[in-house]
Amino acid sequence: MKKIYIYRNDYPSSEEIAKELKERFDAISIEAELILLNGEMPSSSKEDSIHIVVGGDGTFLQVVRDTNFSDVPIIGVNTGHLGFFQEVTMHELPELVHFLKKGDYTIEPLRLLDAKVERSDGSEESFLCVNEILVKGVNSKVIHLDVLIEDVFLEKFSGDGLIVSTSIGSTAYNFSVGGAVVHPHLETIQISPLAPISSASYRSLLNPIVMPGNMKVRIVPETTYEKNIFVVQDGKEHEIKNISAVHVSLSDKHIQRIHIRKDMYWKNLRDKFI
Ligand code: NAP
Ligand code: MN
Repeated sequence: MKKIYIYRNDYPSSEEIAKELKERFDAISIEAELILLNGEMPSSSKEDSIHIVVGGDGTFLQVVRDTNFSDVPIIGVNTGHLGFFQEVTMHELPELVHFLKKGDYTIEPLRLLDAKVERSDGSEESFLCVNEILVKGVNSKVIHLDVLIEDVFLEKFSGDGLIVSTSIGSTAYNFSVGGAVVHPHLETIQISPLAPISSASYRSLLNPIVMPGNMKVRIVPETTYEKNIFVVQDGKEHEIKNISAVHVSLSDKHIQRIHIRKDMYWKNLRDKFI
């Protein structure tokens, strides 16, 4: 029998829902463990287990990071604001327990984005993302970035920063800056400019670019400017010194998202955005 790990944020409603869920699993003799985020994490999930996230999208993204991009199937119960990833509402706990018990669900693999940051001393650090990587300055000045696609120089961007997003991340930050919504069954990478400058001094592309998911993007900070840059991994900031380039591509890694209903994408988009 599967073990269920129930992760939650520290909102009172999440605590309540997580406890109710555990009681429902206990009642049918399915082992369930409650885990509060930012506390002690289980050392490793048992094989054949399921992760449930109680919270909003931010909680979902944090659980994915904190469980080291585990390929244990994952589903969310929304107690947050938008909850684009959080398919189940607080009132559907009996259905969730029923479908998980019966194994009556589908799994959608979501391919992750890999942002490999290279420093001038040759050292590297990689960040996996579900939604996007954002490259921006550490101060409020304009940032200048060379953008290369498949090693071909495309543009010198000037503005606040660049968002490089996955298809599932297209409805997140990307959407707020005028990026296109991309169905997650299309494997794409989208680059969207954040407050691009188009003037007599600086000319940046003003529109988002969508490319096939097997292409590689390289972002190179202008040498004469600040080399300390923020790379923001699904909302998590990392300040990195002496960046020479950020290499972005789709990773071979996926997370495995559970759906208890079929073909919910457009309905979810309509209900959450329109
Ligand atoms: P947050 O500031 O609470 O998130 C911003 C909003 O984005 C929240 O309403 C969140 O839902 C929603 N969201 C996250 N992923 C989404 C997706 N794939 N599709 C549609 N909406 C999505 O920060 P957070 O909760 O830690 O989430 C991190 C994400 O926030 C980042 O990956 C980035 O995409 C996004 N973000 C957006 C903006 C903007 O739109 N101006 C600015 C900064 C960051 P919940 O309410 O359920 O958490
Ligand atoms: Mn949030």
